[in-house]
Amino acid sequence: MSNHQPSISVTTDAPEESSACHKPQEHTLAEMVIDLDAIAHNTRTLKAMVSAAELMAVVKADAYNHGMRQVVETILSAGATQLGVATIDEAMRIRAAGFDAPVTAWMWFPGEELFGVFDHNITLGLPSLAHTEACLRAAEDWESSGGCVPSVTLMFDSGLSRSGVGPREWEETARLIAAAEREGKIRVTGLMTHLASADSDDAREVTDLQNRRFARAIELCRSLGMEVPINHIANTPATVSRPDLHHQMVRPGVGIYGVDPMETQGSVGLRTAMTLRARVLTTRVVPAGEGVSYGHLWRAQKDTRTAVVALGYADGLPRSMSGKFEVTIDGVAYPQIGRVCMDQIVISLDDSADPRAAEHTVQPGDWAVIFGEGGTSLDEFSAKAETIPYEILTMPRCRVARRFLPVRDAVKDGLTDSTDLPVDLATPGQTNAPTAESMRAIGRHIGEQVGAGTVISLTGPLGAGKTTLTQGLAEGLGVKGRVQSPTFTIVRSHKPGAPGQPGLLHMDAYRLLGEEVADTIEPGKHVDPHIVLDALESLDLDADVDAAVLVAEWGRGVVESLSDKVLDVEILRATGEDHPDDETRVIRWRWV
Ligand SMILES: *Cc1c(COP(=O)(O)O)cnc(C)c1O
Repeated sequence: MSNHQPSISVTTDAPEESSACHKPQEHTLAEMVIDLDAIAHNTRTLKAMVSAAELMAVVKADAYNHGMRQVVETILSAGATQLGVATIDEAMRIRAAGFDAPVTAWMWFPGEELFGVFDHNITLGLPSLAHTEACLRAAEDWESSGGCVPSVTLMFDSGLSRSGVGPREWEETARLIAAAEREGKIRVTGLMTHLASADSDDAREVTDLQNRRFARAIELCRSLGMEVPINHIANTPATVSRPDLHHQMVRPGVGIYGVDPMETQGSVGLRTAMTLRARVLTTRVVPAGEGVSYGHLWRAQKDTRTAVVALGYADGLPRSMSGKFEVTIDGVAYPQIGRVCMDQIVISLDDSADPRAAEHTVQPGDWAVIFGEGGTSLDEFSAKAETIPYEILTMPRCRVARRFLPVRDAVKDGLTDSTDLPVDLATPGQTNAPTAESMRAIGRHIGEQVGAGTVISLTGPLGAGKTTLTQGLAEGLGVKGRVQSPTFTIVRSHKPGAPGQPGLLHMDAYRLLGEEVADTIEPGKHVDPHIVLDALESLDLDADVDAAVLVAEWGRGVVESLSDKVLDVEILRATGEDHPDDETRVIRWRWV
């Protein structure tokens, strides 16, 4: 028998890098899609606003739940020079992930072990006299053990009355710190303070008063001989609306993730980085008179088609939102009905305010967007939840996976590695193509996954990249001949690259049928397949539709009944019509 004593070990090592949320797996039913390109864009936008001042990006709470490691990597290459977090553990995690940028942690209690902080070169915020004394004691011990000089930031309470050195202790603390710096025990990076009401226009005087107090506090420190070179007060709202508060550094958090709390004053062009979505599991008809979900909060007035979506309060969706929001599937919004359960919600497919719902089929595997790209905006969803976007962003919990959309330039490299391609045709999905090269690579990957007899309906506005995608597709299939826009040729037949392989028929469905026929196609109705086949035949093509992959531009409503393997591919502008210069496209696919 072993008689090992249980032991408790205390260590100052940085903790293992860990992230609460996992990568999407084969059976993932709910995910946060994190658009790192939006985060890079927001960082650049905020940095451009503050010109000379440094940008400390706040990445507390796992980067507002966007994934610390990926976010930090992104923002450091987009203009942020410093990082801010709440706890020492969070700062340690940044070090454990291999980042050596300056990082400040401001939430701790006197009595916490601080050697790890000094050892990892973490700047410690000092929010009270007691914290300052504790830090100075630890710094002395640290010095006598041969460590280098720790950095601290004095936290001044200018009116939030939460943490920060308050007026009663301020002078004593400043003198103590000034003496310690003179003696070389610590290095003071500067002062910070936090605003109470920067997001409210009505509270401008409150913000002004806080800034005047802050300026006097900096003055006092300088009169005591401290340099305090880098001082900061500006959170996101102050960064975007008060250039007079930028000082030597700004400290935005939520703006990095695309929230502009000052939107009312006009948009500064930040992009929401997070989209929350979950899969449709099943659909059914609930007979008139029957109640839906726990407690029968909702009852069918008529026979009602419903769907179940895989997200519940265990994933962070508040139960108090039962019946108060919508989810969006392929651009069509459906009301959530009945109680929010632990793992699932029910939506009504027959109570959508969108007339397109009548023609829209919802299927198991479809993604239902809760908020974000392709659905309800984060602001709107937050309003429905009667809270602020900050709380909604930090709402999704561990069971929700995180899928990262790469920063533009990174995409190209990522896509050359075919094992890394985000296109998996097995289930409906979507991906971003920031460049023509990535569009082509996506086409190539689709081509590698489809076979003879497949019909691909390709939809997208003029200039969306349909031909580029088809060029990639031709490469993936290995067919012969150069792919061009079919607008003039109507149909072009590409021969297989090798015997037994599929060829490619590339057509403009609209031109094939002629305007008279094409213009009569009603949404949701399909053209009789014989009309299409006859039209193809009349062109005298030396090609067998069954032995080829047929790509039909403008094919919706035309080609769906030509085969039992019809892939619907849609290309959209990522940023809508507001940003015509943005080349990013979203590619969506689903089998119909
Ligand atoms: C969270 C936090 C910030 C960031 O605030 P945002 O409103 O998200 O920009 C800045 N400073 C401190 C001290 C914070 O705790």
